[in-house]
Amino acid sequence: MPGIFLKELDALKAQGLYRRIRTICGSQGAHVSLEGRDVLLLCSNNYLGLADHPYLKEAAMRALERYGAGTGASRLVSGTMELHEELEHRLAYFKGTKGALVFNSGYAANTGVIPALVGRGDLIFCDRLNHASIIDGCLLSRARLLRYPHRDMTALRRKLEETSSSEGRKLIVTDGVFSMDGDLADLSELVSLKKEFGAILMVDDAHGAGVLGACGRGTAEFCGVEAGIDIHMGTLGKALGGFGAYVAASREITELLLNRARSFIFSTSLPPSVLATALAALDIVESSEGRALRNRVMRHAETVRCFLGPAGFDTKASRTQIIPLHVGGAAETMEFSRQLLDQGVFVQGIRPPTVPRGTSRLRLTVMATHKEEDLERAAELIAATGKRLGII
Ligand SMILES: *Cc1c(COP(=O)(O)O)cnc(C)c1O
Repeated sequence: MPGIFLKELDALKAQGLYRRIRTICGSQGAHVSLEGRDVLLLCSNNYLGLADHPYLKEAAMRALERYGAGTGASRLVSGTMELHEELEHRLAYFKGTKGALVFNSGYAANTGVIPALVGRGDLIFCDRLNHASIIDGCLLSRARLLRYPHRDMTALRRKLEETSSSEGRKLIVTDGVFSMDGDLADLSELVSLKKEFGAILMVDDAHGAGVLGACGRGTAEFCGVEAGIDIHMGTLGKALGGFGAYVAASREITELLLNRARSFIFSTSLPPSVLATALAALDIVESSEGRALRNRVMRHAETVRCFLGPAGFDTKASRTQIIPLHVGGAAETMEFSRQLLDQGVFVQGIRPPTVPRGTSRLRLTVMATHKEEDLERAAELIAATGKRLGII
Protein backbone atom coordinates (compact mmCIF):
# COMPACT_ATOMS: atom_id res chain seq x y z
CA MET A 1 0.00 0.00 0.00
CA PRO A 2 2.35 2.72 -1.16
CA GLY A 3 1.61 6.30 -0.26
CA ILE A 4 -0.95 5.87 2.53
CA PHE A 5 1.14 7.93 4.96
CA LEU A 6 2.19 10.68 2.57
CA LYS A 7 -0.80 12.89 3.40
CA GLU A 8 0.08 12.73 7.06
CA LEU A 9 3.69 13.69 6.35
CA ASP A 10 2.52 16.56 4.11
CA ALA A 11 0.23 17.80 6.90
CA LEU A 12 3.18 17.85 9.31
CA LYS A 13 5.19 19.87 6.78
CA ALA A 14 2.32 22.33 6.30
CA GLN A 15 2.11 22.91 10.07
CA GLY A 16 5.86 23.39 10.48
CA LEU A 17 5.97 20.19 12.54
CA TYR A 18 7.96 17.97 10.20
CA ARG A 19 11.10 16.62 11.88
CA ARG A 20 14.36 15.42 10.50
CA ILE A 21 17.57 14.03 11.91
CA ARG A 22 20.78 16.05 12.01
CA THR A 23 23.98 14.05 12.22
CA ILE A 24 27.02 15.09 14.22
CA CYS A 25 30.39 13.80 13.06
CA GLY A 26 33.08 13.17 15.64
CA SER A 27 32.51 13.44 19.38
CA GLN A 28 30.17 15.58 21.47
CA GLY A 29 32.16 18.67 22.41
CA ALA A 30 31.31 22.35 22.81
CA HIS A 31 31.94 22.71 19.09
CA VAL A 32 30.78 19.92 16.84
CA SER A 33 30.95 19.09 13.19
CA LEU A 34 27.37 19.18 11.91
CA GLU A 35 26.84 18.05 8.34
CA GLY A 36 30.29 19.21 7.37
CA ARG A 37 30.56 22.48 9.29
CA ASP A 38 31.91 23.52 12.64
CA VAL A 39 29.16 24.89 14.87
CA LEU A 40 28.83 25.94 18.50
CA LEU A 41 26.61 23.35 20.20
CA LEU A 42 23.91 24.98 22.33
CA CYS A 43 21.31 22.24 22.58
CA SER A 44 22.97 19.27 24.22
CA ASN A 45 22.20 17.80 27.64
CA ASN A 46 25.87 16.91 28.07
CA TYR A 47 25.93 19.64 30.73
CA LEU A 48 29.21 18.79 32.43
CA GLY A 49 30.95 17.85 29.21
CA LEU A 50 31.47 14.27 30.38
CA ALA A 51 30.33 12.59 27.14
CA ASP A 52 33.82 12.75 25.68
CA HIS A 53 35.79 13.01 28.92
CA PRO A 54 39.03 10.96 28.78
CA TYR A 55 38.37 9.39 32.19
CA LEU A 56 34.98 8.03 31.09
CA LYS A 57 36.33 6.77 27.79
CA GLU A 58 39.14 4.94 29.50
CA ALA A 59 36.77 3.35 32.03
CA ALA A 60 34.55 2.16 29.18
CA MET A 61 37.48 0.68 27.28
CA ARG A 62 38.79 -1.15 30.34
CA ALA A 63 35.36 -2.64 31.03
CA LEU A 64 34.95 -3.66 27.42
CA GLU A 65 38.30 -5.41 27.56
CA ARG A 66 37.56 -7.19 30.83
CA TYR A 67 33.83 -8.00 30.58
CA GLY A 68 33.09 -7.99 26.86
CA ALA A 69 30.63 -6.14 24.68
CA GLY A 70 27.23 -7.32 25.82
CA THR A 71 25.33 -9.05 28.61
CA GLY A 72 23.41 -11.57 26.54
CA ALA A 73 20.22 -11.48 28.59
CA SER A 74 17.86 -9.45 30.72
CA ARG A 75 18.67 -8.70 34.34
CA LEU A 76 16.59 -11.49 35.89
CA VAL A 77 17.81 -14.19 33.53
CA SER A 78 21.61 -14.09 33.26
CA GLY A 79 22.24 -10.46 32.33
CA THR A 80 23.22 -9.12 35.76
CA MET A 81 27.00 -8.66 35.94
CA GLU A 82 29.24 -7.37 38.74
CA LEU A 83 29.11 -3.85 37.35
CA HIS A 84 25.30 -3.70 37.58
CA GLU A 85 25.55 -4.52 41.24
CA GLU A 86 28.41 -2.11 41.81
CA LEU A 87 26.62 0.74 40.05
CA GLU A 88 23.41 0.13 42.01
CA HIS A 89 25.28 0.19 45.31
CA ARG A 90 27.02 3.33 44.25
CA LEU A 91 23.80 5.06 43.16
CA ALA A 92 22.03 4.20 46.42
CA TYR A 93 24.97 5.65 48.32
CA PHE A 94 25.03 8.73 46.08
CA LYS A 95 21.31 9.39 46.54
CA GLY A 96 21.25 8.38 50.20
CA THR A 97 18.65 5.63 49.76
CA LYS A 98 18.59 1.97 50.79
CA GLY A 99 18.08 0.72 47.26
CA ALA A 100 18.71 1.59 43.63
CA LEU A 101 17.92 -0.08 40.35
CA VAL A 102 19.46 0.64 36.96
CA PHE A 103 17.13 0.96 33.97
CA ASN A 104 18.06 0.95 30.29
CA SER A 105 16.97 4.55 29.75
CA GLY A 106 14.94 7.25 31.36
CA TYR A 107 12.12 6.48 28.99
CA ALA A 108 12.22 2.83 30.05
CA ALA A 109 12.37 3.81 33.72
CA ASN A 110 9.28 6.03 33.63
CA THR A 111 7.20 3.67 31.50
CA GLY A 112 8.21 0.77 33.74
CA VAL A 113 8.12 2.33 37.19
CA ILE A 114 4.77 4.16 37.11
CA PRO A 115 2.68 1.14 36.02
CA ALA A 116 4.50 -0.93 38.68
CA LEU A 117 3.42 1.48 41.42
CA VAL A 118 -0.17 2.26 40.43
CA GLY A 119 -2.93 0.67 38.37
CA ARG A 120 -6.70 0.65 37.87
CA GLY A 121 -8.48 2.34 40.75
CA ASP A 122 -5.43 4.41 41.70
CA LEU A 123 -4.79 8.11 41.07
CA ILE A 124 -1.85 9.95 39.53
CA PHE A 125 -1.31 13.68 40.02
CA CYS A 126 0.90 14.95 37.22
CA ASP A 127 2.26 18.41 36.36
CA ARG A 128 1.04 19.46 32.91
CA LEU A 129 4.58 20.03 31.68
CA ASN A 130 6.00 16.69 32.82
CA HIS A 131 8.16 14.82 30.32
CA ALA A 132 6.49 12.67 27.65
CA SER A 133 7.92 9.48 29.17
CA ILE A 134 6.08 10.22 32.43
CA ILE A 135 2.83 10.75 30.53
CA ASP A 136 3.35 7.48 28.67
CA GLY A 137 4.03 5.68 31.95
CA CYS A 138 0.84 7.15 33.41
CA LEU A 139 -1.22 6.06 30.41
CA LEU A 140 0.24 2.55 30.50
CA SER A 141 -0.63 2.21 34.17
CA ARG A 142 -4.39 2.63 33.54
CA ALA A 143 -4.62 4.65 36.75
CA ARG A 144 -6.79 7.78 36.65
CA LEU A 145 -4.62 10.67 35.47
CA LEU A 146 -5.21 14.10 37.02
CA ARG A 147 -3.05 16.79 35.46
CA TYR A 148 -2.54 20.04 37.33
CA PRO A 149 -1.40 23.36 35.80
CA HIS A 150 2.36 23.79 35.75
CA ARG A 151 3.78 24.26 39.27
CA ASP A 152 0.34 25.25 40.56
CA MET A 153 0.34 23.89 44.10
CA THR A 154 -3.07 25.39 44.91
CA ALA A 155 -4.63 23.48 42.04
CA LEU A 156 -2.86 20.30 43.12
CA ARG A 157 -4.12 20.72 46.69
CA ARG A 158 -7.67 21.16 45.38
CA LYS A 159 -7.40 17.93 43.36
CA LEU A 160 -6.02 16.08 46.37
CA GLU A 161 -8.84 17.38 48.54
CA GLU A 162 -11.49 16.45 45.98
CA THR A 163 -10.18 12.89 45.85
CA SER A 164 -9.26 12.47 49.52
CA SER A 165 -11.91 9.79 50.07
CA SER A 166 -10.53 7.64 47.24
CA GLU A 167 -9.43 4.19 48.39
CA GLY A 168 -6.69 3.74 45.81
CA ARG A 169 -3.02 4.61 45.96
CA LYS A 170 -2.08 8.17 45.10
CA LEU A 171 1.07 9.01 43.17
CA ILE A 172 2.35 12.55 42.68
CA VAL A 173 4.91 12.67 39.87
CA THR A 174 6.94 15.62 38.67
CA ASP A 175 10.03 16.61 36.77
CA GLY A 176 12.63 18.06 39.20
CA VAL A 177 13.99 20.46 36.58
CA PHE A 178 11.41 20.88 33.84
CA SER A 179 13.10 19.75 30.66
CA MET A 180 11.80 22.39 28.25
CA ASP A 181 11.55 25.37 30.65
CA GLY A 182 14.50 25.02 33.00
CA ASP A 183 12.45 25.90 36.06
CA LEU A 184 12.16 23.81 39.21
CA ALA A 185 9.33 21.90 40.81
CA ASP A 186 8.26 23.24 44.20
CA LEU A 187 9.59 20.15 45.94
CA SER A 188 9.18 21.37 49.50
CA GLU A 189 5.46 22.04 48.92
CA LEU A 190 5.11 18.71 47.10
CA VAL A 191 6.66 16.92 50.08
CA SER A 192 4.19 18.57 52.50
CA LEU A 193 1.24 17.75 50.25
CA LYS A 194 2.26 14.14 49.81
CA LYS A 195 2.55 13.78 53.59
CA GLU A 196 -0.75 15.50 54.26
CA PHE A 197 -2.67 13.38 51.74
CA GLY A 198 -0.80 10.10 52.13
CA ALA A 199 0.52 10.08 48.57
CA ILE A 200 3.72 8.64 47.07
CA LEU A 201 6.07 11.26 45.57
CA MET A 202 8.21 10.49 42.53
CA VAL A 203 10.69 13.00 41.10
CA ASP A 204 12.20 12.63 37.62
CA ASP A 205 15.50 14.45 37.91
CA ALA A 206 16.83 13.82 34.40
CA HIS A 207 18.16 17.39 34.19
CA GLY A 208 19.02 18.01 37.83
CA ALA A 209 21.14 14.96 38.62
CA GLY A 210 24.85 15.79 38.50
CA VAL A 211 24.15 19.51 38.03
CA LEU A 212 22.14 20.87 40.97
CA GLY A 213 23.01 20.83 44.64
CA ALA A 214 26.42 21.39 46.18
CA CYS A 215 27.22 17.69 45.77
CA GLY A 216 25.40 17.24 42.46
CA ARG A 217 22.70 15.00 43.88
CA GLY A 218 20.09 17.03 42.06
CA THR A 219 16.98 19.12 42.59
CA ALA A 220 16.03 17.46 45.90
CA GLU A 221 19.46 18.25 47.35
CA PHE A 222 19.19 21.81 46.00
CA CYS A 223 15.78 22.19 47.69
CA GLY A 224 16.91 20.46 50.88
CA VAL A 225 14.17 17.80 50.79
CA GLU A 226 15.94 14.60 49.78
CA ALA A 227 14.48 12.45 52.55
CA GLY A 228 10.94 13.52 51.62
CA ILE A 229 11.07 12.01 48.12
CA ASP A 230 9.91 8.38 47.86
CA ILE A 231 11.23 7.68 44.37
CA HIS A 232 14.19 9.46 42.83
CA MET A 233 14.51 8.79 39.12
CA GLY A 234 17.50 10.11 37.20
CA THR A 235 19.30 9.51 33.95
CA LEU A 236 22.89 8.61 33.17
CA GLY A 237 22.83 9.99 29.63
CA LYS A 238 22.65 13.71 30.28
CA ALA A 239 24.95 15.39 32.82
CA LEU A 240 26.52 12.00 33.52
CA GLY A 241 27.65 11.75 29.92
CA GLY A 242 26.81 8.12 29.17
CA PHE A 243 23.56 6.23 28.84
CA GLY A 244 20.90 4.64 31.01
CA ALA A 245 18.87 5.62 34.04
CA TYR A 246 18.21 4.71 37.65
CA VAL A 247 15.64 4.70 40.36
CA ALA A 248 16.77 5.23 43.95
CA ALA A 249 14.26 4.42 46.68
CA SER A 250 13.59 2.21 49.69
CA ARG A 251 14.36 -1.52 49.42
CA GLU A 252 10.66 -2.21 49.49
CA ILE A 253 10.16 -0.13 46.36
CA THR A 254 13.19 -1.40 44.45
CA GLU A 255 12.16 -5.00 45.27
CA LEU A 256 8.69 -4.27 43.93
CA LEU A 257 10.14 -2.70 40.79
CA LEU A 258 12.39 -5.61 40.00
CA ASN A 259 9.36 -7.88 40.29
CA ARG A 260 6.90 -5.68 38.46
CA ALA A 261 8.50 -3.10 36.15
CA ARG A 262 8.10 -4.59 32.70
CA SER A 263 10.77 -2.43 31.06
CA PHE A 264 13.23 -3.75 33.64
CA ILE A 265 12.16 -7.38 33.32
CA PHE A 266 11.69 -7.76 29.58
CA SER A 267 14.73 -6.03 28.12
CA THR A 268 18.39 -6.95 27.70
CA SER A 269 20.49 -5.26 30.39
CA LEU A 270 22.95 -2.42 29.82
CA PRO A 271 26.38 -3.52 28.60
CA PRO A 272 29.45 -3.38 30.88
CA SER A 273 31.14 -0.46 29.10
CA VAL A 274 28.06 1.70 29.68
CA LEU A 275 27.94 0.79 33.37
CA ALA A 276 31.65 1.57 33.77
CA THR A 277 31.04 4.95 32.15
CA ALA A 278 28.38 5.74 34.74
CA LEU A 279 30.65 4.71 37.62
CA ALA A 280 33.41 6.92 36.24
CA ALA A 281 30.96 9.81 35.84
CA LEU A 282 29.94 9.46 39.49
CA ASP A 283 33.63 9.61 40.47
CA ILE A 284 33.83 12.98 38.74
CA VAL A 285 30.48 14.30 39.96
CA GLU A 286 31.52 13.55 43.56
CA SER A 287 34.99 15.08 43.19
CA SER A 288 36.19 18.69 43.35
CA GLU A 289 36.32 18.59 39.55
CA GLY A 290 32.57 17.91 39.55
CA ARG A 291 31.97 20.84 41.84
CA ALA A 292 34.00 23.11 39.56
CA LEU A 293 32.10 21.88 36.48
CA ARG A 294 28.75 22.55 38.18
CA ASN A 295 29.85 26.06 39.12
CA ARG A 296 30.91 26.70 35.55
CA VAL A 297 27.57 25.55 34.11
CA MET A 298 25.66 27.79 36.49
CA ARG A 299 27.90 30.76 35.73
CA HIS A 300 27.46 30.19 32.00
CA ALA A 301 23.67 30.02 32.38
CA GLU A 302 23.74 33.29 34.29
CA THR A 303 25.82 34.94 31.55
CA VAL A 304 23.40 33.90 28.82
CA ARG A 305 20.25 34.75 30.80
CA CYS A 306 21.65 38.14 31.81
CA PHE A 307 22.24 38.99 28.18
CA LEU A 308 19.17 37.52 26.48
CA GLY A 309 16.59 38.51 29.11
CA PRO A 310 17.30 42.25 28.91
CA ALA A 311 17.67 41.90 25.11
CA GLY A 312 13.93 41.17 25.11
CA PHE A 313 13.62 37.38 25.18
CA ASP A 314 11.07 35.73 27.40
CA THR A 315 13.29 33.17 29.11
CA LYS A 316 10.29 32.19 31.25
CA ALA A 317 11.23 31.12 34.74
CA SER A 318 14.53 29.43 33.87
CA ARG A 319 16.76 28.99 36.90
CA THR A 320 19.09 26.42 35.44
CA GLN A 321 21.30 25.49 32.51
CA ILE A 322 18.16 25.10 30.36
CA ILE A 323 17.13 28.47 28.92
CA PRO A 324 14.01 28.61 26.75
CA LEU A 325 13.75 31.45 24.24
CA HIS A 326 10.05 31.79 23.62
CA VAL A 327 8.95 32.29 20.00
CA GLY A 328 5.37 30.99 19.72
CA GLY A 329 4.74 29.55 16.27
CA ALA A 330 6.40 26.35 15.08
CA ALA A 331 7.41 27.61 11.63
CA GLU A 332 8.93 30.85 13.04
CA THR A 333 10.83 28.83 15.60
CA MET A 334 12.36 26.58 12.98
CA GLU A 335 13.27 29.59 10.80
CA PHE A 336 15.02 31.18 13.78
CA SER A 337 16.93 27.97 14.42
CA ARG A 338 17.88 27.66 10.74
CA GLN A 339 19.20 31.22 10.54
CA LEU A 340 21.32 30.71 13.64
CA LEU A 341 22.72 27.51 12.21
CA ASP A 342 23.69 29.40 9.05
CA GLN A 343 25.76 31.61 11.34
CA GLY A 344 27.41 28.68 13.10
CA VAL A 345 25.23 28.41 16.22
CA PHE A 346 23.25 25.22 16.75
CA VAL A 347 20.14 25.69 18.96
CA GLN A 348 17.37 23.26 18.17
CA GLY A 349 13.77 24.48 17.87
CA ILE A 350 11.24 22.74 20.13
CA ARG A 351 7.68 22.34 18.86
CA PRO A 352 4.48 20.48 19.70
CA PRO A 353 3.98 17.81 20.84
CA THR A 354 7.14 18.30 22.91
CA VAL A 355 5.72 21.61 24.18
CA PRO A 356 2.10 22.88 24.14
CA ARG A 357 0.77 24.49 20.95
CA GLY A 358 1.70 28.17 20.63
CA THR A 359 4.72 27.83 22.93
CA SER A 360 7.34 26.74 20.42
CA ARG A 361 10.77 27.92 21.43
CA LEU A 362 14.48 27.56 21.07
CA ARG A 363 15.75 25.51 23.97
CA LEU A 364 19.23 26.77 24.68
CA THR A 365 21.45 24.73 26.98
CA VAL A 366 24.89 25.59 28.27
CA MET A 367 27.71 23.20 29.12
CA ALA A 368 30.70 23.44 31.44
CA THR A 369 32.93 22.99 28.40
CA HIS A 370 31.74 26.16 26.69
CA LYS A 371 34.04 29.15 26.68
CA GLU A 372 32.62 32.34 28.15
CA GLU A 373 33.55 34.34 25.05
CA ASP A 374 31.84 31.82 22.74
CA LEU A 375 28.64 32.18 24.76
CA GLU A 376 28.82 35.97 24.68
CA ARG A 377 29.33 35.96 20.92
CA ALA A 378 26.47 33.48 20.45
CA ALA A 379 24.14 35.53 22.67
CA GLU A 380 24.82 38.65 20.59
CA LEU A 381 24.15 36.73 17.42
CA ILE A 382 20.92 35.27 18.82
CA ALA A 383 19.70 38.72 19.88
CA ALA A 384 20.54 40.28 16.48
CA THR A 385 18.82 37.45 14.62
CA GLY A 386 15.80 37.54 16.93
CA LYS A 387 15.46 41.26 16.32
CA ARG A 388 15.75 40.85 12.56
CA LEU A 389 13.00 38.21 12.62
CA GLY A 390 10.74 40.38 14.81
CA ILE A 391 10.80 37.90 17.68
CA ILE A 392 12.09 40.51 20.14
C1 LIG B 1 15.46 12.88 28.75
C2 LIG B 1 14.39 12.68 29.75
C3 LIG B 1 13.89 11.41 30.03
C4 LIG B 1 14.29 10.21 29.22
O1 LIG B 1 15.57 9.78 29.55
P1 LIG B 1 16.43 8.96 28.49
O2 LIG B 1 17.48 8.31 29.27
O3 LIG B 1 16.90 9.93 27.48
O4 LIG B 1 15.46 7.95 27.88
C5 LIG B 1 12.98 11.27 31.05
N1 LIG B 1 12.55 12.34 31.74
C6 LIG B 1 12.98 13.58 31.49
C7 LIG B 1 12.47 14.72 32.30
C8 LIG B 1 13.90 13.79 30.47
O5 LIG B 1 14.31 15.02 30.19
